[in-house]
Amino acid sequence: MMKEIFLCKYGEIALKGLNKSTFESVMVKNVKRRLRRLGSFDYWRAQSTLYVYPLDAEIDMDDVMDELKRVFGIAKICRSLEVEKSMESILSDTTLDYLAEALDDASTFKVEAKRADKKFPYKSPEICASLGGKILERFPHLSVDVHEPDITVTVEIREKYAFVNALRIDGAGGLPIGTSGRGMLLLSGGIDSPVAGYMMAKRGVQIQAIHFEAPPYTSERARMKVEKLAEEIALYCGDIAFHCVPFTDIQVAIKENCPEELFTIIMRRLMMEIAQRICEKENCSCLITGESMGQVASQTMGAIVCTDAACRIPVFRPCIGLDKSEIVKIARDINTFDTSILPYEDCCTVFTPKHPKTRPIPADVEKAQNSFDFEPMIAEAVVKTVFKIFRCGENTVNI
Ligand code: ATP
Ligand code: MG
Repeated sequence: MMKEIFLCKYGEIALKGLNKSTFESVMVKNVKRRLRRLGSFDYWRAQSTLYVYPLDAEIDMDDVMDELKRVFGIAKICRSLEVEKSMESILSDTTLDYLAEALDDASTFKVEAKRADKKFPYKSPEICASLGGKILERFPHLSVDVHEPDITVTVEIREKYAFVNALRIDGAGGLPIGTSGRGMLLLSGGIDSPVAGYMMAKRGVQIQAIHFEAPPYTSERARMKVEKLAEEIALYCGDIAFHCVPFTDIQVAIKENCPEELFTIIMRRLMMEIAQRICEKENCSCLITGESMGQVASQTMGAIVCTDAACRIPVFRPCIGLDKSEIVKIARDINTFDTSILPYEDCCTVFTPKHPKTRPIPADVEKAQNSFDFEPMIAEAVVKTVFKIFRCGENTVNI
């Protein structure tokens, strides 16, 4: 029976000096947590690679691959064939059958050998020459190119077994989640904010999500759509703590007490205020939004300056320099796009002014906001915020 193992090559972690092992440990913990429900595995690390070794015969290798592909910190993944540690096994038909998938469509190749076990009686050049010869016999359409081969076949000689592989796919890249602190993502039902959450998670930030709803102006369905998005990004970001804030009273108060052209900007500042209070409780050190420079009236430089004037902690906007089409591409890649375009209303759109100010003056905004005492409503909204957790890989929201 063929037995396979996964080799996960580190991305940037490999470049970390003294901190490398800390990053590595977090990544390994993340991998273990994800794979636990698929069966039991053995793990070992060497030379900026994590070896994942399935222990149960029933484990579905494609499922493992799908999980590994979403773990940040891994740059390349390859599946390898485990063979007996003898030249005979390395050169066997089983090996050549296994390599056929990669080599059938290639025209050039080379063989590389790594001997972690220095006692193995054959040296690397001998292993390469022998397997190279076998490959040329079996696949006569191929020729050797040591500089720029289509396919590099690697043979690794380890303590107990040898491993042969030829196919490598890209991993998720980035840094392991949990190595860059915690952030609070303002998650709407749109296309941009799930992408923003994914991008920050990719850089190692553990994400929580906060959503503002305005029932009865926004429906139960609209909230479920956002919950679905939280569940979808959890596949990459890990478990997501989700905070849902009742925002209707505040929006009505803005409408009744503030100049119409400043509705949106004041609403955004109050969202930021509430989000920061939840951040304090949850130990999150930054806010994250899906804003992109100039995309809408509330995302002009002037509006962003006014929004940030209400913030005591950094606001990260990873989509700021992306065009809509670029954001959409990522949304499709991470599978949130189809949910994002479901046609449910967002609280922002409920009280949209006809002519929002694109160049609001901070002092004017502050004055308008201070003309009404929002504090009791803010405090109440924080108290009434509903908390849930969406677990990575669980499918609970159906809309
Ligand atoms: P998105 O596609 O993410 O909805 P957008 O282009 O529709 O963004 P806005 O509606 O102006 O832009 O929202 C800008 C950002 O503010 C969003 O990306 C999100 O981070 C945050 N946001 C907007 N509405 C909400 C909401 N109801 N709850 C939580 N965050 C929100
Ligand atoms: Mg939106």
